[in-house]
Amino acid sequence: MRCPYTVLGVSRTASQSEIRIAYLHLLQIHHPDHSSDPRASSMTAEIVSAYAVLGDPAKRASYDAEQAMPDPAQPGFKEAARSPLPEVTCIRCGVQNSTLRSAIFYWVMSFVIVTQRHTRTAVWCDKCRFKEAVKWSLISGGIGWFGFPWGPIYACQAMFHNAAGGKKNTEVCTLRKPNKKLVIIVLQAEGNTACRKY
Ligand SMILES: [Zn+2]
Repeated sequence: MRCPYTVLGVSRTASQSEIRIAYLHLLQIHHPDHSSDPRASSMTAEIVSAYAVLGDPAKRASYDAEQAMPDPAQPGFKEAARSPLPEVTCIRCGVQNSTLRSAIFYWVMSFVIVTQRHTRTAVWCDKCRFKEAVKWSLISGGIGWFGFPWGPIYACQAMFHNAAGGKKNTEVCTLRKPNKKLVIIVLQAEGNTACRKY
């Protein structure tokens, strides 16, 4: 429903008689008896319901009071001063709890004389962090060794880092929401200090 003041084209400070004059004037223009516009009946219905609110001083006062109250459905009603919080969940299982952390895991790929080191950075829960550590260590163990001379060295380094839980690259702050914790993670890896959304 549109704002009745807009429908009747009157200001919020209009007197009751101004509202009545506007209502009768609009009715004369838009009533199906006077107008051939196909929307005439719907416009008339809108004008009549707007006047049903504003034409009655008690209903008008309660409408005005309702409009003056902040709407809880509007974003920022409760946390106007805070910027919107990113929803952080485990990238693997989707869980959202206080064990969420960002970590960097290493993995190594070698072929004869070429050895490449790669990283995998994301936010995981404690269980998935363990699984990721095992996964990237197995991959390094499987395809990381076979490069001379750095393959075995980098593969050992990667497995050592991963066994230690990956490299920790974050500043983590925990915010309490009703009945649950929300963890916000600020990534500092690779020069990215912005809050990243997962
Ligand atoms: Zn998980």
